[in-house]
Amino acid sequence: MATAKSSNPNHANKTQCRNQAKHKFCRRIGECLWKDPSCPTVAGKKRAFPAGPHGKTKRIKLSTYGALMLEKQKLQFYYAISENQLRLAYARAKVGEGQTPEKFFRNLEQRLDAIVFRCGFARSIFAAKQMVTHGHILVDGKKVDRPSFIVKEGQVVSINAEKSPNIADMAKTSAGAAIPAYFEIDLDNLKCTLVRAPQLDELPALFNIMSVIEYYAR
Ligand SMILES: [Zn+2]
Repeated sequence: MATAKSSNPNHANKTQCRNQAKHKFCRRIGECLWKDPSCPTVAGKKRAFPAGPHGKTKRIKLSTYGALMLEKQKLQFYYAISENQLRLAYARAKVGEGQTPEKFFRNLEQRLDAIVFRCGFARSIFAAKQMVTHGHILVDGKKVDRPSFIVKEGQVVSINAEKSPNIADMAKTSAGAAIPAYFEIDLDNLKCTLVRAPQLDELPALFNIMSVIEYYAR
């Protein structure tokens, strides 16, 4: 998204560095969390090994605790949220009726920033967060600038095209890729309806949510 804004080569380098930092965790797990083609772990890229001085040496087998923690970190990095926010999503999932894993997943996947990313309006979770905090996103026609806002079934997320024509144009070109079945997309009007809550089997395959629950339950 932040490419070719300026012809200054320093700008391009900085952008690339920032992008690389976001994918540092991908290098640790050996695959891209977001399946982003610009990630260093994608085949053909040079830096598919973990970052740091020991990155190229043999990978040490993680202890059970370490393995659980890694699963937790995957979720945290994917949604780009703090440890506290993730713990809160778990704590909320644990109370009341219903299955904890499913509610935990929904507390993450129904975040406004995650929806803006997953429906294709933004190319990365980071760009999605920024679109929300900068006031470009509407829920049921009203501005919501809180990325942690939980979108409910039936609510409509849209881009404020009047206020943000450039953002809207960009979204039109990036949207339309693999979109989860629980969305109904109106690309002409840049509207995305959450028609139903996501199911646990619609998790991005990379995650083992049971391990994360085990991590927190310890
Ligand atoms: Zn990556």
